[in-house]
Amino acid sequence: MMQSFDVTIVGGGMVGLTLAKGLANSELSIAIIEASETSELAKSPESRVSAISFASKTLFDNLGVWPLLASERITPYQTMQVWEKDSFGKIEFNAKQVNQQELGYIVENKNLQLALLTAVQQQKNVTFFCPDALQNMAIGEGEAWLTLNSGKQLTSKLVVAADGANSWVRQQLDIPLTKWDYQHHAIVATVKTQEIHQACARQIFTSQGPLAFLPLYEQHTSSIVWSVPPLQAELLLALDDAAFNQELNRHFDNRLGLCEVQGYRQSIPLTMRYARDFAKHRVALIGDAAHTIHPLAGQGVNLGLMDAASLGQEILKCSAAGNDIGLYQHLRHFERWRKAEAIQMIASMESLKQLFNGDNPIQKLLRDVALTMANNVSPLKTQFIKQAMGLQGERPNLCLPQSNVK
Ligand SMILES: Cc1cc2nc3c(=O)[nH]c(=O)nc-3n(C[C@H](O)[C@H](O)[C@H](O)COP(=O)(O)OP(=O)(O)OC[C@H]3O[C@@H](n4cnc5c(N)ncnc54)[C@H](O)[C@@H]3O)c2cc1C
Repeated sequence: MMQSFDVTIVGGGMVGLTLAKGLANSELSIAIIEASETSELAKSPESRVSAISFASKTLFDNLGVWPLLASERITPYQTMQVWEKDSFGKIEFNAKQVNQQELGYIVENKNLQLALLTAVQQQKNVTFFCPDALQNMAIGEGEAWLTLNSGKQLTSKLVVAADGANSWVRQQLDIPLTKWDYQHHAIVATVKTQEIHQACARQIFTSQGPLAFLPLYEQHTSSIVWSVPPLQAELLLALDDAAFNQELNRHFDNRLGLCEVQGYRQSIPLTMRYARDFAKHRVALIGDAAHTIHPLAGQGVNLGLMDAASLGQEILKCSAAGNDIGLYQHLRHFERWRKAEAIQMIASMESLKQLFNGDNPIQKLLRDVALTMANNVSPLKTQFIKQAMGLQGERPNLCLPQSNVK
């Protein structure tokens, strides 16, 4: 039997579920197709975490999702320290410098995904197809025709690709991708530290790449994201715990005393991806399906969440006006808006990566002078902080404190 929907979201990750929740108070019928079933939050900290910006937190507040998170596992952080190894260059950010309580929040991805799932499962206008995946997709004039692995058949006015970095939907439509290898793999793991983190997010730039310590909900526990060249990542993964800890302490300047890795380490290859089209007739791309960036500034999912909020806003506007939500002409504004934001973010990541590239003493000196200047010039610093908090650029209504919505 054929089932018909207004919006079909392929991928029930953090970004896809955020879009579904953003469409909760509408008449639109929504299908979510998700390949894997979600497991429970583990007792010990999950190794995949995200720095959630102030703008994304506002989005979750407005959607009523934030109270559904396991609150004891959210870590607000008020300060951020960035420095270069074997140099005097450093910069420190504080929430008070922009009159805020927090700079952001470290949240395990699964905590967020489970909270979103709880919220979306309560929506009457959502049908889940999980575990299931798309097997075939045909884009017609008036609707898209979808066949799932289970054999179920759907039609939809709009298909939203929220199916991650290797998006099946994007590949199926032959949407060209601009991409480059960052020549880094990120090692992620949970680490116990001798000293407490004091709700500070820290990042050191070494000659091989950045190493971040993100504060977790226990004061002696942090989540690390250590970006190194692929060969180095292989070597680090092969070390036993004691030897890995030694390397970690050495690279992190012993900033939090002795570190001990807990549980397993994971290595993730890092690639910049930018889809040439974020929208086509009856299709829109959001989150990692549209773009992936280096995690050095912790902005990837924040960018994707803004995509979800922006697309939701455009869909609701279009549907309220009685227009066909799948027509490219009605998706064009979303596409232009999000491509501009993504390009800006990609360029910022590239500048940061290039800035810290190279060990030449003169380059290092110039870098340290620049960092010291930025640390002392408050308008420049305020700009940095605002960018990290997601307060720059054109924000969708759901990401504004509700008193500011026009
Ligand atoms: C090491 C590292 C650290 C990071 N740290 C941060 C950070 O601090 N802050 C930040 O903002 N970002 C960070 N990011 C980026 C962030 O993790 C991603 O941007 C985010 O997970 C993307 O979410 P998504 O929902 O778009 O995609 P995904 O999380 O990949 O979700 C896609 C979903 O689609 C499903 N799926 C895939 N294919 C199909 C199919 N064919 N049919 C049905 N379902 C399908 C998958 O099962 C999955 O559930 C980091 C990334 C890395 C690699």
